[in-house]
Amino acid sequence: MASQNRVDLDGNPIKPITICMIGAGGFIGSHLCEKLMAETPHKVLALDVYNDKIKHLLEPDSLPWADRIQFHRLNIKNDSRLESLVRMADLTINLAAICTPADYNTRPLDTIYSNFIDAIPVVKYCSGNNKRLIHFSTCEVYGKTIGSFLPKDSPLRQDPAYYVLSEDASPCIFGPIEKQRWSYACAKQLIERLIYAEGAENGMDFTIVRPFNWIGPRMDFIPGIDGPSEGVPRVLACFSNNLLRHEPLKLVDGGQSQRTFIYIKDAIEAVLLMIENPARANGHIFNVGNPNNEVTVKQLAEMMTKVYAKVSGEPLLETPTIDISSEEFYGVGYDDSDKRIPDMTIINKQLGWNPKTSLWDLLESTLTYQHRTYAEAVKQATSKPAAS
Ligand code: NAD
Repeated sequence: MASQNRVDLDGNPIKPITICMIGAGGFIGSHLCEKLMAETPHKVLALDVYNDKIKHLLEPDSLPWADRIQFHRLNIKNDSRLESLVRMADLTINLAAICTPADYNTRPLDTIYSNFIDAIPVVKYCSGNNKRLIHFSTCEVYGKTIGSFLPKDSPLRQDPAYYVLSEDASPCIFGPIEKQRWSYACAKQLIERLIYAEGAENGMDFTIVRPFNWIGPRMDFIPGIDGPSEGVPRVLACFSNNLLRHEPLKLVDGGQSQRTFIYIKDAIEAVLLMIENPARANGHIFNVGNPNNEVTVKQLAEMMTKVYAKVSGEPLLETPTIDISSEEFYGVGYDDSDKRIPDMTIINKQLGWNPKTSLWDLLESTLTYQHRTYAEAVKQATSKPAAS
């Protein structure tokens, strides 16, 4: 139930606001809408081309928050309603993007248009109408670590100064243009720079969020079940798909990249603090991740096979993983970040926020959801005779 007596981090009462949330029907948007409806008095104008992941918040009309959420089906590329919706709100949150690695090198034009060109009007409408903007960028803007350029046996590789990624100090290191993988990171970097410049030159209030591998229920799709059979979602859904089909998890280039994973519900707490503490969040770029949950992708795969066996009651896979080259899996032009550890100093100082959930626990709740949601559908799909 939304309490009427909520206060911000400085003890001031929080006034109900209207939020224009672009991309509200996606993974992060669906969790943010849920949180805002269940725990706050704020209103949401939810914009997206899809609403499947938030349908449970929109229907039936008898839901306690029915008058606080409104879905607008629109594509921000070409819909004249966008500016008036930004104007009707106190705050705009832009989540809309193409953000699956399999698209970066195979659909570089769509990736650049979606992450840069399509976001420009949103920034302009916020700046021109004196509206606050929270924009979702990515940890990919850091690219590779400085340490990755050191000799393999250099002891400096163990020194955090060479790999911890901090918002106000780390450079953004991308590969050459022909490695089209970096089209996403580069487009996100340029929109960050545009937003920062609108703040510096025109006084726009903004906050930029750099998510570090947020995972949880409703992330992406399971190919052939609620998404295209040939589609390649992000790593959590790829591995979940393999587990549901009892096939080995595919490790790109041996799965040696290191990542930190954070539970979506921890990350959403951070976003709510940004929404409700504008004086502490405006003008800042925030890393949002969990530095304690670092694993290689291979270790993630091994942990997921164990957790899935526990939550599904099915036996462990005999061959849990197989290697595949990045060219075979992602196509030409793929490249990767070696390691991503977020520096948490700024978000901790400004918002007093820290992540809580361990990797094992977040995988347990996420894979329980995946199993309950998809296991039966996958079983039925795989038992159907192949079309002749
Ligand atoms: P998502 O793909 O689940 O959600 C994005 C939503 O935007 C989708 O529902 C999509 O339909 C919508 N959208 C895209 N283009 C649109 C358009 N032209 N008009 C209207 N709607 C449009 O992705 P997500 O994981 O929820 O990510 C949200 C944001 O966070 C993205 O900007 C992404 O780059 C960023 N991000 C997320 C992560 C993560 O760990 N999940 C990591 C880094 C960055």
